[in-house]
Formats: sequence, C-alpha cells, structure tokens
Amino acid sequence: MISGKSQHVRRGGMLACILLLLFTLACAREKSAEAAPQPATSTALLPTALDRTAAPETNPPSINADRTMQYIKDIVAFGPRPIGSANHKRLEQYIYSHLKGDQVEDDAFTADTPEGKFPVRNIIAKFPGTRDGIIVIAGHYDTNYPLRNTAYVGANDGGSSTAILLEFANQLRGKKLDGYSVWLVWTDGEEAVKQWSATDSLYGTRHLAEKWQKDGTLKNIKAFLLEDMIGDADLDIAHDMNSTPWLETMVYQAATRLGYQSHFFTIETGIEDDHLPFVQRGVPSADLIDLDYGYNNVFHHTPQDTIDKLSPKSLQIVGSVTLETIRLINAMK
Ligand SMILES: [Zn+2]
Repeated sequence: MISGKSQHVRRGGMLACILLLLFTLACAREKSAEAAPQPATSTALLPTALDRTAAPETNPPSINADRTMQYIKDIVAFGPRPIGSANHKRLEQYIYSHLKGDQVEDDAFTADTPEGKFPVRNIIAKFPGTRDGIIVIAGHYDTNYPLRNTAYVGANDGGSSTAILLEFANQLRGKKLDGYSVWLVWTDGEEAVKQWSATDSLYGTRHLAEKWQKDGTLKNIKAFLLEDMIGDADLDIAHDMNSTPWLETMVYQAATRLGYQSHFFTIETGIEDDHLPFVQRGVPSADLIDLDYGYNNVFHHTPQDTIDKLSPKSLQIVGSVTLETIRLINAMK
C-alpha cells in the first residue's frame, strides 16, 4: 500500500485541543447540574468517538496473541512469498490447513501484470451469523514482489495480516455469532509487481470487489475491515482519510472503550490499500494500518521487516479493537 505523504500530519495537538474542549464541556455540564437539574446536554453533536460518557467495556473481546505470533514465525520461515512463487503456494496450503472444517471458498484467477501473468487466489472463510448481512475482515498474504530475490520476509507486511486472520478464525469457529456473519478474506496480489499504480496493485481485491458486485454480495456487506502491518511493537494505527468516516470513528470508539486510543489516529493520512476497491463501490470500509514502521517508516518494504520488530501486545490491541468494532457494528440499529 502507499500513503498520500502530502496529507501526512501529526495531529496530536488537534486531539489534545478536542479533548480539552470536551473536558471543559464536561466540567461545565457538571457545574450546571449542581446548580439545578438540567436536561442532558446533547453529546450527539460531538464526534461519537470522543464521547467520554460511553461506558468502558467490562468484558473486552480478545485473541490469543502468542498463538498469533507463532503463526507469524511459521509464515516468515517460508521465506519471501510473492505471487507466482513456490513459497506463496506453500503459504496457501498453510492457510487452508488451519481452516479445516470451516466453510472455505476461493476466488482464483489469472492476473495480467507488467511482469506477465500470475495466478492470484483470494481465500475466504465464512462464519455464519444470525442476522442478515456480512462483516468482512481482510488482510493480504502475498509479500512484496520486487524484493522477491532478497532476504525480505515481510513479518509485518504480509505476515501479521495473514496470522491475525488465522487467529480470528480460531475465535469465530464453533461459536453461534449473534449478529452479522463474519467473512475472513486472505487477499492476494495486494503488492505492486513493478511500481504502485491504479493498475499495478490490489489485484486480488479489485477482482473480488467486481465479482461481489456482479453476484449481489456487495450490497449485503455492512462493513469491510482491513488489517495491514498491525504487528509493529511501536503501534500507531493511522487515521485513514480514504476510509469511511463513520467506520473510522467507530474503530476509534472501540479503541477508546478498551483504553487503547493512544495507539490510534495520532497520524492522519490517505492510504491506498485493499479497501479501495470496496470504498469505491460504496462499501463502508476502514483500514487498520500502521504505516509508521520504524522511524519514518524505514522498515517498510526492506529486509529489516523481521519478527523482532513485532510484539504480541500490538496484535492483542488490534485484535481486540477489531472484535470490539464488530460488536459496535452489531449494536447499531
Ligand atoms: Zn507491502
């Protein structure tokens, strides 16, 4: 994925101002309540994500972060996993081997790229809910193509997204989901083969979004949550301007309810990633991505993207926030 660097701004100051304003409002409300009973001040005017009256989550959803970390170790051990490679094929088998007994489909096709034709395969695991509608959690499993002949292993970029989806499958499996169905999608061909452009990137999701538009699936998707580079020990999930604002707000609200908000939205930027083909078709989408991987993102797309930079704590935070976001989506009218 790439980021619109021009829009890349730290907004810690702005957040602090908003929080200060909220604090002031809260104080004012408390004072007036002391003087005389007042109707509740409308917090609806404030961004929901900053609604400090929201009760903290008492029974937060969680994942097994150590197991997720082990998946990343297994995946990295395959070596580079670009489209068309033997390692990519091995990783496909690894994913399937962890989905035995689940309802699994694929979306396989041949992609025409500047480096020739490649087989591309999105892998989809479906976990049925009680309510009509689908929440998709997606993340890519292919790794950078231009670095295929280097020591690049993509622990964070490719590894972390593949692994957390496998762990979500463990969390969803065998449960009666009281809400929308959850579909996990291991997307393929996210990376550019030559240079990132509208036609050289997102091969898998461009194909899948079009397919789901044609067969009518798309209109049943209530939310598309994307996980990308979520294992960085110094976790800093960006506020993505290309994502759907209300869903971004909901992610921030989920993070706030769990006490993880300091890892979210201190950086504001526009990200081009696997959510775009869905955003462009009107599907509410949010990209949970940390594009601040090492100072100035120095580890991104380099052989330094290795497992020692990652932390189970970060996987736990993103896993919990993702599951809490799903809970909040299901709680919507
Ligand atoms: Zn990448």
